[in-house]
Amino acid sequence: MATIAFIGLGNMGNPMAANLVKAGHRVQGFDLMPENVSIARDNGVIAEADAPGAVDGAEVVITMLPAGKHVLDVYEEIAPTAAKGTLLIDCSTVDVESARKAHAIAAKHGMPSIDAPVSGGTAGASAGTLTFMAGGSDEAFALAEPVLQPMAGKVVHCGAAGAGQAAKICNNMILGVSMIAVGEAFVLAERLGLSHQALFDVASISSGQCWSLTTYCPVPGPVPTSPANRDYRPGFAAALMLKDLMLAQEAAKGSGAVTPLGKAAADLYDAFNENGHGSEDFSAIIRYLRDRAR
Ligand code: NAD
Repeated sequence: MATIAFIGLGNMGNPMAANLVKAGHRVQGFDLMPENVSIARDNGVIAEADAPGAVDGAEVVITMLPAGKHVLDVYEEIAPTAAKGTLLIDCSTVDVESARKAHAIAAKHGMPSIDAPVSGGTAGASAGTLTFMAGGSDEAFALAEPVLQPMAGKVVHCGAAGAGQAAKICNNMILGVSMIAVGEAFVLAERLGLSHQALFDVASISSGQCWSLTTYCPVPGPVPTSPANRDYRPGFAAALMLKDLMLAQEAAKGSGAVTPLGKAAADLYDAFNENGHGSEDFSAIIRYLRDRAR
């Protein structure tokens, strides 16, 4: 069993760290928010006063932070004191450029590193069924895979440094676009006098089938576990969907890819957030579409 530093004990980080504790690892945690540290302590994490303290004596460092700048700040802070050979795993969702910079900091200090963003949300984090999308060398991936297993349903090696983040933003661009498409279809069905259940029964076994429909249906009823059945409490907040769609747009601009539907989805979620809905589940976009119908 390993000593693992876990930095960033928020909605995702805390249940992930708890699963590492359950797997028998010694987990040394740090977060800027005392209330999150206190939850971690209750889960068996050893609370440390700062990031270098958490990294002291650790063979592995996992970060689960809001954005690229937080990851780079923490990497700069811990790199001088972490032991050479310490494995750095960043599970945050960040832009591809920051991910590559983080790998460069690690390499400069003789530490193997992996970008390993996740899909599966807070439910997957609690259940230990997250999908990890990893980017980095074969050697670093081989070291990281067993560490990730207690938190994972699946761990996929997507390629070199930054490839995990690339996979994550491409996947979430599909998700944002498909949720809007499913929402539009239900709003049109309502206008045409077609019941939610009838559209679901047909589309869920026809060519309109997709995760946004069959697992995360944006109207109450057909999929009892979807956020629509609990007044769109997240789940996956609309503000986080906007973040990922903006990362996709940044990446598209930087790489010259043409993503007109990704752009339209980013614009719609931007307007949805501007209208004060950022803390609702992202599937609540259907209410915004419905409200705009004449
Ligand atoms: P969160 O805001 O709940 O947690 C982030 C934590 O990082 C906070 O507790 C904050 O205090 C801490 N933090 C910030 N800067 C820090 C620093 N310098 N040192 C120590 N701690 C610091 O966010 P979350 O929902 O846990 O998401 C974390 C990451 O996972 C994000 O990049 C997000 O996009 C991604 N993600 C979230 C979900 C989800 O459903 N919530 C799903 C997939 C991916």
